[in-house]
Amino acid sequence: MTTIAANLQAVKQRIYAACTAAGRSPESVTLLAVSKTQPAAQLRIAASCGQRAFGENYLQEAEQKIAELRNEFHDKSRDELSDELRDINHAIHRADDHAQPIEWHFIGPLQSNKTRTVAELFDWLHSLDRLKLAERLSAQRPKTLPPLQVCIQVNVSGEASKSGCAPAELPALAQAVAALPGLRLLGLMAIPEPTEDIALLRSRFALLRQLRDQLNTDGLALDTLSMGMSHDLEAAIAEGATIVRVGTAIFGERQKTGT
Ligand SMILES: *Cc1c(COP(=O)(O)O)cnc(C)c1O
Repeated sequence: MTTIAANLQAVKQRIYAACTAAGRSPESVTLLAVSKTQPAAQLRIAASCGQRAFGENYLQEAEQKIAELRNEFHDKSRDELSDELRDINHAIHRADDHAQPIEWHFIGPLQSNKTRTVAELFDWLHSLDRLKLAERLSAQRPKTLPPLQVCIQVNVSGEASKSGCAPAELPALAQAVAALPGLRLLGLMAIPEPTEDIALLRSRFALLRQLRDQLNTDGLALDTLSMGMSHDLEAAIAEGATIVRVGTAIFGERQKTGT
């Protein structure tokens, strides 16, 4: 088994264990493989193990990989998987089906002059943080594609972080985004400040869940919480994560790059 196959299996086992500990169904958590700086060959290995959702941060790099892997992973049979991996895959099923095409998620900071690439090439955007971006993406989303699925990124760490919209601005932004025809608002995303303090981390994740629940009380129907990475996915799952974004635990250390 390749390192990536073994790593994927180990991450899925962590997700499975965290779900069990939290009394949640493993099917309620989707694994997003964060493949920034990794060459297409690495993604191909993960895809051949059944991984279907990939997260990218740099547009130029992502465009190349999307072009390269397009149409490659449609009809792979599940037969080439080991029995063990197939069982775990079965338990963690969403975005993980050999019959499905690859799903591309943009998760990095997005400049407003770069929205067209995301609107045209991606299935998801996790880092929506202002209305101007949302309006451009909605207008630029090709009518031949389903609406771009989006999460609003929220700054749950106060002054310790700058990325994401402030919790106080979230209700108005969420209502405005939900009304745009080219977008489908599905939930919230957060990247808490790095900390070894698990209780603090959990409070950040819990805040994101409470903000999502409040928006639902106010009339939206959001089911997605994109939170948790290689080092903290257990804490995020304990607080309700439905998508965990995992890079280094699958692919190893990142290659040096950045475009
Ligand atoms: C790089 C990145 C990740 C993955 O982080 P790892 O620690 O490698 O798992 C997750 N989310 C975002 C937004 C990222 O930029």
